[in-house]
Amino acid sequence: MEVLLANEYGFCFGVERAVEMVEEAIHEGDTVRALGPLIHNEQEMQRLAHEGVTTISEPVQIQRNETAVIRAHGVTPEVQRELEAKAAKVVDATCPFVTRVQKLAARAAAEDRHVVIIGSPDHPEMIGVHGYAPDHAFIIRDESEVGQLPQLRRPLVVSQTTIKSKTFFDAAEAVKTKTSDEVQIINTICSATRDRQDAARALAGMVDAFYIIGGRHSSNSVKLLGVCLEQCKKSFLIETEAEIDPNDLIGVERVGVTAGASTPKWLIDNVVKHLEAIGKRMDTSLAP
Ligand code: SF4
Repeated sequence: MEVLLANEYGFCFGVERAVEMVEEAIHEGDTVRALGPLIHNEQEMQRLAHEGVTTISEPVQIQRNETAVIRAHGVTPEVQRELEAKAAKVVDATCPFVTRVQKLAARAAAEDRHVVIIGSPDHPEMIGVHGYAPDHAFIIRDESEVGQLPQLRRPLVVSQTTIKSKTFFDAAEAVKTKTSDEVQIINTICSATRDRQDAARALAGMVDAFYIIGGRHSSNSVKLLGVCLEQCKKSFLIETEAEIDPNDLIGVERVGVTAGASTPKWLIDNVVKHLEAIGKRMDTSLAP
């Protein structure tokens, strides 16, 4: 049985950077506390907890001798200031792609322009970006919510980094009905999610079974499962190798593996090794 990895899988650039920054702080001997779960992966959170990383839900919980971590989603400038005032040190792991959206929103607001952000209003990334233009920005989920917007002044339209491009462009086009001014549309979608889906799609047609490694609550992992199921009926979303049932692999010649953007490499390596061991056992038992 051959085990094939998709061309793009696992940690995206922003998550990998955030974990590296946290590990650096741990090695410097800091008491590290992340504002919100650093990553949507239970096993990696457990590993980090073992290294001493704890999570806080409010900036007020940070102590003077502790290092506060801003995760990849970013925070509002207000929260950042609060952390800087209270913590011994702040590790700002905001993904540079998110920082770009924050800066674009802040600049448009400084020019007294409206900002329309297409995304989920309750997503932490969106809450953070909105904080950079609190009196000028509106968050809408999609085209259907454009009607709720007021008449707009020289609007800038940007997006949450992880939404679908069709959702963004359809909404951005509809925003034009809310102004007689020119509309500036800047696509701020990050390609990490799409790249992982494209790579999974490309592999799904070539394998007999597919394992997607990721948390059950990780939306990008659940979407990867959907993409794989379109072409490979034996596609499974698993968190660890312990969930693999060897019976599912009977008669399988090629098995695909991919992982969501929050899945660490060590978990992926464990799954691949486990699959290879099952494959060897099966090949041996079939040998004449
Ligand atoms: S998905 Fe994209 S924007 Fe979000 S953290 Fe990863 S690299 Fe950054």
